[in-house]
Amino acid sequence: MSHEAHYKIVIVGGGSGGITVAAQLLRKSRVLRGDIAIIDPAEKHYYQPLWTLVGGGAASKEVTEREQASVIPDGAEWLKDAVTEFYPDENLVITKSGNKLHYDYLVVATGIQIDWHKVRGLKESIGKNGVCSNYSYDFVESTWENISNFKGGNAIFTSPNTPVKCGGAPQKIMYLADDYFRKSSVRSQSNIIFASGGTTIFGVKKYADALNKVIERKKIKTCFKHNLIEIDGEKKQAVFENLDTEERVTMRYDMIHVVPPMSAPNFIKKSTLAASDGWIDVDKYTLQHKRFHNVFGIGDCTNLPTSKTGAAIRKQAPVLVQNLLCQMNAMPLIHEYNGYTSCPLVTGYGSLILAEFDYNSNPDETFPFDQSKERLSMYLLKKELLPVIYWNGMLKGLM
Ligand code: FAD
Repeated sequence: MSHEAHYKIVIVGGGSGGITVAAQLLRKSRVLRGDIAIIDPAEKHYYQPLWTLVGGGAASKEVTEREQASVIPDGAEWLKDAVTEFYPDENLVITKSGNKLHYDYLVVATGIQIDWHKVRGLKESIGKNGVCSNYSYDFVESTWENISNFKGGNAIFTSPNTPVKCGGAPQKIMYLADDYFRKSSVRSQSNIIFASGGTTIFGVKKYADALNKVIERKKIKTCFKHNLIEIDGEKKQAVFENLDTEERVTMRYDMIHVVPPMSAPNFIKKSTLAASDGWIDVDKYTLQHKRFHNVFGIGDCTNLPTSKTGAAIRKQAPVLVQNLLCQMNAMPLIHEYNGYTSCPLVTGYGSLILAEFDYNSNPDETFPFDQSKERLSMYLLKKELLPVIYWNGMLKGLM
């Protein structure tokens, strides 16, 4: 039975961004207790950054998954449903079950859409025929199966020419594979190829310089402007489009780790909240929607011109929350997000470059040492400390 309800704040999406915002709002303002709804159809909540290490056999996938109910902050109500339509002129969202939810303020945090179907043959071959991906809880273990059973030949790692969540993840798993192939004595019989729709290894010079040295040391072949368009699982062939010449380039593989194309979720693309490129259209400093001032956006679903990561959300959430409270109190929005994002670039089992930078691609580092150097300490930070900070700090609204 569909029904109608009203909440002061409706949050669409209970992932990293949605839960962090709800938890911080409830810590800052007790009057909001009972007046925040989080709409999300997913039964489970995932700590996705660890999937790189799951694919590399260094963590178990079960530790990345928790019941959604267990992360909903006390004082917020979880509506297990999916939003299908936005009516921002009427302060209304409609859900898949036909419910009409009215709000005073709306926060959109639905994450990114993975377009598996945009690579021909990918949906049919993922998880078999040497095809794997860290970009899905269901298939992340297939990456480790392929790496640990690799006997030599061509190991291809792809990166699409679309925005992705965690721009560094396509290459991190390749460095782990290289490290493992050396340990299992198959590296000398293997070609490792990074086939990317991008033009460089990384967008920030300081870290790109360091990564180019890693690529050289590991003898990895790079093919930039090569966008994966087709997989033939039976023949173990991958077809790329050369983005300069539009020519088709076919490569044979023995294993291929695919990072699929991604885009804004379809229901956002078709809504009036979207910018012309499909993402939620927010002011890059205040996170307020450019046209609907009682609407805010956070995380992967927005058009914020920075790399889409959970670390970015850690810095976006307090800005959004404070500006939303200003908006509610008819005060000017003075809090600004500087585009901070971070990418812990795993370069092997026990080494990591911690990239942190802002909108201007200027390093914005946390530690008082050169973070472009590969370090064991930063690897341990990613593997052991960041998950604890996520579950016990970020999702509880403490940071
Ligand atoms: P999500 O956390 O994905 O949550 C979106 C939520 O919206 C989901 O719960 C979904 O069910 C819900 N939703 C979707 N559609 C609807 C709808 N119609 N109605 C209601 N709810 C809906 N980040 C880092 O900081 N460091 C890393 O090292 C890192 N590595 C990564 C490695 C991999 C392999 C992957 C996949 C990601 C990695 N990330 C990393 C990225 C990070 O996980 C994401 O950027 C972050 O989770 C985005 O948060 P979000 O809230 O925008 O979206």
